[in-house]
Amino acid sequence: MPVFWWDAEYDKQGTAKLIEMFRTFAPVAFVLFNGPDIPFVRKATNHDHHFHVKLRG
Ligand SMILES: [Zn+2]
Repeated sequence: MPVFWWDAEYDKQGTAKLIEMFRTFAPVAFVLFNGPDIPFVRKATNHDHHFHVKLRG
């Protein structure tokens, strides 16, 4: 069962921290995710229950 960003189980701070770690340790081009108040992400269809990391190169 996926957790959507509007669910009570959703961990916004953990999600933001995880994306920040991707950006720290990998050459991230962009991140697709629809959850509000997450730095760096851009919206994309169907990205309400997972985020998608695009790397450069
Ligand atoms: Zn995706």
